[in-house]
Amino acid sequence: MTEVASMMTIGGKPVEGIDSMPVENPATGENFAEAPACSAAELDRAVCAARDTFPRWAGLPHQQRVTDLVDCANALDASVEEIAKLITLEQGKPLRESLAEVRLSAEWFRKTAELSAPSEEIPDSTGGNSRITMDRVPHGVVAAITPANFPVLLAVVKIAPALLAGNTVVLKPSPSTPLSSLRMGEVLNDALLPGALNVVSGRAELGPALTGHPYVNLISFTGSMHTGQRVARAAAPEFKRVVLELGGNDACILLPGIDVAGLAEEIFRRSMVNAGQFCAAIKRVYVARDQEQELVDALASLARSATVGDGMDPATDIGPLTTREHLESVVELVSDAVNNGGRVVTGGAPLDRPGHFFPPTIVSELGASTRLEGAEQFAPIIPVLAYDDVSSAVKRANGTHYALGGSVWGPEAEALDVAARLDCGTVWVNTHGDLRHDVPFGGRRASGMGVEYGYWGLLEYTQIKVTNVAQRPAS
Ligand code: NAP
Repeated sequence: MTEVASMMTIGGKPVEGIDSMPVENPATGENFAEAPACSAAELDRAVCAARDTFPRWAGLPHQQRVTDLVDCANALDASVEEIAKLITLEQGKPLRESLAEVRLSAEWFRKTAELSAPSEEIPDSTGGNSRITMDRVPHGVVAAITPANFPVLLAVVKIAPALLAGNTVVLKPSPSTPLSSLRMGEVLNDALLPGALNVVSGRAELGPALTGHPYVNLISFTGSMHTGQRVARAAAPEFKRVVLELGGNDACILLPGIDVAGLAEEIFRRSMVNAGQFCAAIKRVYVARDQEQELVDALASLARSATVGDGMDPATDIGPLTTREHLESVVELVSDAVNNGGRVVTGGAPLDRPGHFFPPTIVSELGASTRLEGAEQFAPIIPVLAYDDVSSAVKRANGTHYALGGSVWGPEAEALDVAARLDCGTVWVNTHGDLRHDVPFGGRRASGMGVEYGYWGLLEYTQIKVTNVAQRPAS
């Protein structure tokens, strides 16, 4: 237990670190391994390694970086089982979902390697013959800060485009889930120039130390709204660039008359992804009042039949919440809902066993403006909210700080009309949470700034550089 399970990667070398921290298995509540707790000096070495490597990495031909990204994909493919097991042990999700996460991450490297940032010529509109080119150049050192819910995939969606564009990276995973990212760093090391990708893990002081480091040029952050605010503040004094992928409180609006019983299974599944710990999970459902009971009954029946358990058990549908603190905040949220008139139809309290298990929970009859409607629960809870007219559902869907995703379900023309009125980064029609490597994804308002994924995500890791060449007669 006291042995460090995975090392940091700094300047191409494995680093055990002078200090370590325990990593808990959320299915047992027991610490099962140690991870390095990066010191200030080790962090400085990691950022300096990224800075020193930057000119060489950025100076490689684009095709060399493409080859290296494909090598990363192959290296990850060769370690799928080992890394997936670490994800389940530290994060909690069912092992088959962890396997899918690592396989998708390898594929993400391959798909990203197919992209390139354009160079463009801008015609001289003054009638002169200046030669103006607009290139997309890298920022330099990227600090990639990731959350606990998809530790490997959410790291790769940053690392792959950042590296392809010519940046170097310092990755800092969540202290709840450091091992899979650390192991990935070790596995990818041989595929990359030493120092191009550095991976550090540590306690709460590490994130601010990284965002405040003077050699960091861009912070690519995924996590909660409140941490996003801190990151933006830390970036401000030196005008570091930021990409912020923050929380969501995605609404799902079912149009009147839709077959709610037929859709219940899909709504349940798209809400319960990773025990609800998915930014773009369905987090609240709006249904016509005369169909509310039918939907509540169908969802409650699905909730009662789901198997909650250790992600290492193949029978498990829904794993634990990743941290004890989060479990406690979820209990508090449900209690607030009940105090505001909410009816817990099924679930509603942690399971009486070791680990951080919260069962799938259906809540109806919520009072106006309860926190369960306005906040991001990030848990296996579906609040079912009845509406009397679709406009009021749209108003409530738009009425929170969050604006990540949302969905409308019903006949397409009608649904598109409602979709146009939803204020969020992505609106789905007759589906939800369909994220793709080649489709940009990002939030508005408190759900973040900038996008990730595909060509548009790649551009975030570049900055525009204009070269304007005046044509003069030879003297
Ligand atoms: P979190 O608590 O905000 O932590 C995210 C990361 O930020 C962790 O590595 C954390 O490390 C670090 N951090 C905390 N304070 C920091 C600071 N002051 N400066 C720099 N880094 C700091 O988020 P989480 O609970 O892991 O993840 C859940 C949230 O992420 C949810 O809101 C979810 O919706 C959101 N999310 C969004 C997307 C998206 O694409 N929009 C995707 C996935 C998840 P420490 O623990 O050491 O503080």
